[in-house]
Amino acid sequence: MNIPAPIITTIQAPWLNANSLSLDILRLDELHPVVSGNKYFKLKHYLIDAIKQGKNTVATFGGAWSNHILATAYACKEAGLSSIGIIRGERPKNPSTTITLAAQYGMELLFVDRTTYRNKEWIKAGYAREGWYWVEEGGMGNLGVMGSKEILRTISTDKYSHIVVSVGTGTTMAGLITSALPHQFVVGVSSMKANTSLDRNIQQLLIEKVTANWRIFHEYHFGGYGKHPQELIDFINEVFEIYALPLDIIYTGKTFFAIRDLVNKNYFPPQSKILMVHTGGLQGNKSLAPGVLHF
Ligand SMILES: *Cc1c(COP(=O)(O)O)cnc(C)c1O
Repeated sequence: MNIPAPIITTIQAPWLNANSLSLDILRLDELHPVVSGNKYFKLKHYLIDAIKQGKNTVATFGGAWSNHILATAYACKEAGLSSIGIIRGERPKNPSTTITLAAQYGMELLFVDRTTYRNKEWIKAGYAREGWYWVEEGGMGNLGVMGSKEILRTISTDKYSHIVVSVGTGTTMAGLITSALPHQFVVGVSSMKANTSLDRNIQQLLIEKVTANWRIFHEYHFGGYGKHPQELIDFINEVFEIYALPLDIIYTGKTFFAIRDLVNKNYFPPQSKILMVHTGGLQGNKSLAPGVLHF
């Protein structure tokens, strides 16, 4: 996979000026029109490993709007591998744009009911065929961390004091923590309500020496994973209107909100140079009715 250098967007805002803060956005959402964001980085080493092991098919899991499913379908097509998507829930009458596109990229979709979906090991044992290589839901795991370590190397990031990222499985954040410099502080914003195992999961993903400090904020979930109340929609529209920055409703909208809130609460020391890693996910906004978002 060839990953082009991402661009930086600098946010100019009065709420940053009070403490002389700067805020740059690393636009992983701009990497590819369809497969944006961190998923590309997380998948890279799984696909290399699959090919090395002589496998011809990558099988993985996700919901109907999953960024990971779409990225896997695309990346496998590009790498000359077949792909299987185990999708949570019965086959819908009107499939989402995400899985429709994944199928167009050649992914074979297998729908499993929600109860079965929870038992990944059972699915693996029952479905596996010769030549299949399994990738965990969301690309979670050590090879995902290895790929995510490259995110901060796509541009020069040494000058930043704080790196802020959205957190689902924590794999991307673990990669950022592993590759961050000793003077840097990695801040994660969880999209889930009270996912108390997250900090421990990340700890387990940190298998290399870590010199940076980190912490996760758990209070910016807006009601829980996948929840997007009007307050969040209004915020995302406002950010787009003022800064021309598109955010997604599952992850990055909550993260940008957290940054502004933490700035207003003086969490960041004066002169902090903040880098938000925009992890993409904009395709998932298509789950909303047209016109809800103004972009
Ligand atoms: C998957 C995803 C995340 C979460 O990444 P993890 O490595 O699972 O923590 C964050 N942001 C976006 C846009 C995503 O699609």
